[in-house]
Formats: sequence, structure tokens, C-alpha cells
Amino acid sequence: MKTLIVADRLIDGTGASPVERGAVLVEKGRIVAVGRQADLGVPEGGKVVEAAPGSTMMPGLIDTHVHLAYSGIPHKKAFRAELVEMSYPAIALRSARYALDTLKAGYTSVRDMHAPGGVIIDLANAIEKGEVQGPRIMACGRGLSVTGGHMDQPGWADHTEFRDLTLPCDGAEGFRLGVRKEIKRGAHFIKINTCISFVGKEPGVWWRQEMTDDEIRAAVDEAHSFEMHVAAHTTGGPGLLSTIVNGVDTVEHAHFTDARIIEAMVKHGTFYVPTLLVNDRNFEFTPEEQGLSARSWKWLNASREAKWKTLAAARAAGVRICAGTDTGYMLTHGEMNWREIHLLVQGGLTPMEAIVAATGTNADLMGWDVGRLKPGLHADVLLVAGDPLADVTILGQRDRLRVFKGGVEVV
Ligand SMILES: [Zn+2]
Repeated sequence: MKTLIVADRLIDGTGASPVERGAVLVEKGRIVAVGRQADLGVPEGGKVVEAAPGSTMMPGLIDTHVHLAYSGIPHKKAFRAELVEMSYPAIALRSARYALDTLKAGYTSVRDMHAPGGVIIDLANAIEKGEVQGPRIMACGRGLSVTGGHMDQPGWADHTEFRDLTLPCDGAEGFRLGVRKEIKRGAHFIKINTCISFVGKEPGVWWRQEMTDDEIRAAVDEAHSFEMHVAAHTTGGPGLLSTIVNGVDTVEHAHFTDARIIEAMVKHGTFYVPTLLVNDRNFEFTPEEQGLSARSWKWLNASREAKWKTLAAARAAGVRICAGTDTGYMLTHGEMNWREIHLLVQGGLTPMEAIVAATGTNADLMGWDVGRLKPGLHADVLLVAGDPLADVTILGQRDRLRVFKGGVEVV
């Protein structure tokens, strides 16, 4: 049976001007036609879903940086304690609830950027099979990090050992093996940690390259041979430049840049996921509430300044900007993801550009048939009571939203 969804305004996720009285025709979970309602007509024997007057239809939102395994608890020690005290099955069960909260908030696809035991791969599969309700999930399994590195959680006592919390790798062959292990586990892409937050002796050095150039190249080469993309946690400086020129597909955070780095992103077609929200979120708590050292606080202040400059430079140069939040880390699932879109607007993007970052461009990053209202793509549709181009913050008001995944309304 065909379904026609109609609204006063249609945003298709490409950046094109909105269509007045727009409609999408859906059959078997896919979009079969898009246009003005007057041109599409009413399907014979089909169903018509008419949005409330003044509503906008747009693609379901996408968040390309979430951690469904994490709760969003702000204190560093409490965050770690959860991961030690909870079994991986318990973490997976909790993440199913977070996935549903995310879907209800209008997010029909997410990219999960690391989970203990790789459990979000299993959640993604359960959702795909219809056993659990949630957004479409692209999951990396465990993040790859050098021994003692960003995701190898330094600071524990010597006698402690955490199996599968992350995947420490060393040397080019070590990273190749790591990539193969995650692919064997069922990962959809690979996450690595190439450069990290650091307060250097030289003024203005806020980064440290953590993986060697050889390690980065090996991880990228191996993942690309499986036609999988690679995402990297980055901070800035030479390590970020090496990440880009050695072929990493998406750079996360990337606070500190210069003209050479921006130019390299354009040349290599790198996707930039600034995660403005998690950076801002740090300032909604005191350093004590987060258990942060004076050094970390200093770093956060410097990165807060830098990220706005990077965003403006990236936009001016035509870098592909994506909306990802780091939800799960200091941010609760479903309630806050929309704020990244608002921050992109505050950082100089037009509301339309910010919406495209959270739909069409995010879909390009993932390489999935989602993120636009276009024939052939999954019918992931969001109806918003009001006009998000006039005020993007209405995307955060759940009572204004009606969410359709694969043409079926989420209830
Ligand atoms: Zn993250």
C-alpha cells in the first residue's frame, strides 16, 4: 500500500529552497516520489498523512557522533565507574532504551563511535531485524587506540585489567590486526584515535600526535580494502594534518586548525564533525562537578575559542561539515542532540546549512540511502509543527515532532 505524506513546507535535505505544499509518496518503506502535492495527486487505495497546518516535512535527522553505551553522566570518575560496574549485556540493554529515546527525538540514523565490547554492533543488528525499536545504527564496535592512549583509559591501578573495554593496538601491524578484529566482530566502520588533547610547553600547543604516520596509514589502508570508512578522534596540529593527508575519511572534534589543515580537508574531501555541543557542555558544569584538573580546564577554554574559528574557516573553504554531538558523553540521549544544529547556526551556518549538515551531508558521510527526501531512499521523514528555518530550536520540542522510519510512524 502506498502512503502520501503531506505538509505545508518540504525541505529535502539537499539545501534546495523549500517546496510549498510538498509531499512524499512512500511504498514498501522507500520514497517513490517527491514534489508538490498538486503534482503527485492522491494514491489510489492508499493512505494520506496530513501534517498539522504550518508544519514542515524534512528528512529524519542524523547524528554522526554518539555513544549509545554511555549514559551522559558528567563526572569523570562516575563515568568510568559505570563502565566497570556494569556487565556488557547490561550496558547493551540500557543502550536499547537510549536508542529509542534518540529515535523519538527525530533522529532516524546515528553513527556510534565506540562501545565497550562492541555491544552497539549487536544493538544495530537487533534494530535491523526489528527485535528492538531504534534508529538505524552504523557502529564501529570498539575504538582503536595505542596502549595507554586516549581510549585505553590510563590512570587505573596496575592490577586492573579491562577486557574488551577498548582495543589497544601498537605498530602498523598491530593496527591492521585491530581493524581485522573489529571487522570480524561486525563493525560498519573503523574508529581510531590519532591525536589527543594536550597542554604543551610551547604556548599554543594543545595537541599531541598519538598514532604514528605509519600506524594511521596501516589502519586506513586495511579499512579501505574492506570498503569501510575510517573516523578519527583528533585535536589539531601536525597530528591532525597527518590524519587528513593519510586518508582518514572523517575527523572528529578537530578544534585547532590552520590554513594548511583546512586546505587539506578540502583537497582530500574529508568530512569534519566538529561536535560543538560536547565542548560547550563542559561549561555547564564546574571543573569540580566533572572531576577535571586545572590542566584539563585550561585546555577546554582554549579549545572553546578555537572551535569557532575552525568552523568559520571550514565553512568559508567549503569543507563538508557534519552534525555530530558526542551524546552519551556528558549529554543525555534524545534530549540534547538537536542542540548541535542550533550551535552550527550560532557558529555562522544558515539554518538551512545546519539542517543539511544534520541530514544530507551526514548521510554522505555514512554512505547510506538516508538523509534526503529523494526517490529510492528510505522513507525516514520528520514532520515538525512550525518552520525550523525560522527557528531551529523547535527541533528540540518533542511535542512538535512526528517521526517516520521506513515510512512507518514511531508511536
Ligand atoms: Zn566521542
